[in-house]
Amino acid sequence: MSNSSLTLAQLEQKNAFVRRHIGPGEDEIQAMLDAIGASSLDDLMEQTVPSGIQLDKPIEVGEGATEVEALAALKKVAGKNKINRSFIGMGYYDTHVPNVILRNVLENPGWYTAYTPYQPEIAQGRLQAILNFQQVTIDLTGLELASASLLDEGTAAAEAMSLAKRVSKNKKSNLFFIANDVHPQTRDVVETRAEMFGFEVVTGSAEDAAEHDVFGALLQYPSTTGEVKDLTDVIAAVKAKKGVVAVAADLMSLVMLKSPGELGADVALGSAQRFGVPMGYGGPHAAFFATRDEYKRSLPGRIIGVSKDTRGRPALRMALQTREQHIRREKANSNICTAQVLLANMASFYAVYHGPEGLKTIAQRIHRLTDILAKALTTKGMALRHSTWFDTITVEVKDKEAVLQKAYEAGVNLRADLDGAVGVALDETTTRNDIDTLLSVFLGDDHDFTVDKLDAEVTTQGSKSIPQELVRTSDILTHEVFNQYHSETEMLRYIKSLEDKDLALNHSMISLGSCTMKLNATAEMIPVTWPEFGQLHPFAPLDQAGGYQEMISELSEWLINITGYDALSMQPNSGAQGEYAGLLAIQNYHESRGEGHRNVCLIPSSAHGTNPASAQMVSMKVVVVACDKNGNVDLNDLRAKAEQVGDNLSCAMITYPSTHGVYEETIREICDIVHDHGGQVYMDGANMNAQVGVTAPGFIGSDVSHLNLHKTFCIPHGGGGPGMGPIGVKSHLAPFLPNHTVVNIETAGKDCGAVSAAPWGSASILPISYMYIKMMGSEGLRKATQVAILNANYVAKSLEGHYNVLYKGRNGRVAHECIVDLRPLKEASGVSEVDIAKRLNDYGFHAPTMSFPVAGTLMIEPTESEAKYELDRFINALISIRKEIAKVESGEWDATDNPLHNAPHTLADICDNDWNRSYDRTLAAYPVPEVARNKFWPSVNRIDDVFGDRNLMCSCPAIESYVEE
Ligand SMILES: *Cc1c(COP(=O)(O)O)cnc(C)c1O
Repeated sequence: MSNSSLTLAQLEQKNAFVRRHIGPGEDEIQAMLDAIGASSLDDLMEQTVPSGIQLDKPIEVGEGATEVEALAALKKVAGKNKINRSFIGMGYYDTHVPNVILRNVLENPGWYTAYTPYQPEIAQGRLQAILNFQQVTIDLTGLELASASLLDEGTAAAEAMSLAKRVSKNKKSNLFFIANDVHPQTRDVVETRAEMFGFEVVTGSAEDAAEHDVFGALLQYPSTTGEVKDLTDVIAAVKAKKGVVAVAADLMSLVMLKSPGELGADVALGSAQRFGVPMGYGGPHAAFFATRDEYKRSLPGRIIGVSKDTRGRPALRMALQTREQHIRREKANSNICTAQVLLANMASFYAVYHGPEGLKTIAQRIHRLTDILAKALTTKGMALRHSTWFDTITVEVKDKEAVLQKAYEAGVNLRADLDGAVGVALDETTTRNDIDTLLSVFLGDDHDFTVDKLDAEVTTQGSKSIPQELVRTSDILTHEVFNQYHSETEMLRYIKSLEDKDLALNHSMISLGSCTMKLNATAEMIPVTWPEFGQLHPFAPLDQAGGYQEMISELSEWLINITGYDALSMQPNSGAQGEYAGLLAIQNYHESRGEGHRNVCLIPSSAHGTNPASAQMVSMKVVVVACDKNGNVDLNDLRAKAEQVGDNLSCAMITYPSTHGVYEETIREICDIVHDHGGQVYMDGANMNAQVGVTAPGFIGSDVSHLNLHKTFCIPHGGGGPGMGPIGVKSHLAPFLPNHTVVNIETAGKDCGAVSAAPWGSASILPISYMYIKMMGSEGLRKATQVAILNANYVAKSLEGHYNVLYKGRNGRVAHECIVDLRPLKEASGVSEVDIAKRLNDYGFHAPTMSFPVAGTLMIEPTESEAKYELDRFINALISIRKEIAKVESGEWDATDNPLHNAPHTLADICDNDWNRSYDRTLAAYPVPEVARNKFWPSVNRIDDVFGDRNLMCSCPAIESYVEE
């Protein structure tokens, strides 16, 4: 049939996005079906997915739109956001994203499609950028040790509370103090967390913190209403009584203010948003977190540390308890997995670009404009709540509504939640014109101030708005990296030099089991940096957020339809936060029925580490359920354990398809057993890529799930974040969805607390998932699932005879991923899973998931986005590596002087004049000819983990240490 015989509709269909998202074309799909012995994709579904759980009617999210159509439609929705000048503050400030960072980091797939740096030899670029972030945090907070970012200021404060409980010597206290001038949303998040831990919270004015017998205290500096006060004495007083003091601080103000560390704080935390990351209606933004060296083993989240490689060169990696939530499970410090790496990188680049002097100029200018505004208002007799400030003043007003109304008419948002006052927070984008506007809002036309005139007056009088004893005298950002790249050319090259060290999806497939590294299409990414989405403050009046509200509610409806649930919350900003929110809902549901004693959570031994770590956060007791030799949940054990805990059963957490990569036939029975014992079923949604359009958690019988929008629904991994972890629930749990103290959420529970700082989590990345669903449509989504399953089965089948695939389901099929067992090979040859992972780097690939859920294995998830060509390259690399292993096994190659043991190979190896290995350089770096077409060079050799942990160093090493002899 020639093209001319196609109808217009058919021709348009051919241009659908589905063909772009799904890697293999029809011919390749057919070839792979032939190879695995299935007649069609539907036939493959029949063979693979248990018949009892296949959807009886298709999902309904509409027909797929083209890229052009979908972008136009979303642009129209975005236009319903009204972008006022924002002076709301409360932890969110407008900022100028330096354009060189906007285009070369935020809009650059080299940065946004990278994976979490578990394979550090091919991730030195982003590890360096995060190390810089830690250095910025250390310098500005005045503490010794910083983490590689947390999810937001609210959750960082909650983590500080947990840390305080762990390390405080006041063991008998169960009381945590929160100052009443902490941001209200932070207080909300911490109180929600405290209730679940069974901590008591007491609030009061910061000065009174030491009047209570507390294990810890949370203060804010400057306060939520802008006051800059010396906390030294109160911190000392709390510490004298063995309490641990955390200070939530503002990063920009710390450029000018004495650091929390110098005030004596044990922990400093806050948001790095205003360092060049758009407000985005609440996120994503990186939270910073710093503490004392002595608490390093209690630090939540990841730390980047400096170690060395086999050539003795400095090399970066995730240090200490980095994978703690995987290894330590319910004993983990926190459930943080996905963090905010991309945003931490942006903030660190902002500091690199501006440098200490540039940041001081920005901070001083903001402060000066605030002085000028304050001067004008007080001259006219207006009362300010405080006599000190950095960038925020709180203005006492008689008729608040009238002032706010006037502000709205002038296109200006002020802080509106205070009694008898409005807040005005300035930022680096504030102009002289803005000050004029603010003056007319407050003073009408009845004044003759000009900014210039005020500027001169403020100069002659000097500013006392920052108390002398709180003026920073210590240096910041003295390291070379912050003093070198201040021209755009230099900055561009610095960013590029780091990007080149990292392997991301724009180089080759990243077959990360459970992490679903699929295409992050450009059309999905474009709306993220539209100003209509970027410049909205999360607490802007709802009638200014019409575009966001429409997008969120449409996306929610689609996700509800796809999951088979009844209601959804967009608040959790990672998968693990979703788990926490879901378990919280379950616990509150039991409580509401007078069954609050139910506190046992059944978790299969194969579960992801965040599951038990989240259960621990709601004070559930974890009981582990065994898996049988086929990798399935052992039904007899489940039944026995459920019986055993009886009335105390709260829930079970199940991943489906299982983390072993198979569709358990008994999943409905599992749900029934849990329900029969009065428990709820939490289905971990990380593996939704094997469900969408084919089956659904709500349909199978579960009560609540989180969705990893950064896995199944195309939000890129960003090198380890951001993510979004909305939860879907059945109707009986809907009254227990998280709400928010500042912005009431209609679809949430009435009296429920918050789990994130922003009401709709990281709202500004939701356009990505919106665009994905809009462009794929119901049929496209189903096909994506089918091809994901096809690709996994094709990989499994192609590896047959070379490697042993550990678990298979019905008809010998795997789901959307498969586990390759390397233990027998190691036994026979001494070649470890690590050797194989690093050798894959020489072939130009990122390693699959290593040793999860089973030690000594690799878990491969190709996703639907990889074409057959790429799958074949990957399969051939693994087969070639298998042949190399055979040579070690047979003794043909030496046990250690071989390319596997020495992998990955760097240019430094190949150029080494003293090359003295028993194999040649071509075999080392170009093991198969195709590698030469697009060679990726790991920038360091294998990194010494033990050395790094023994000599923990989490700040930037001196530049000289990088110079090679
Ligand atoms: C990724 C993942 C999680 C955690 O999600 P985050 O977004 O990283 O917090 C939980 N369970 C499983 C099975 C996962 O793969």
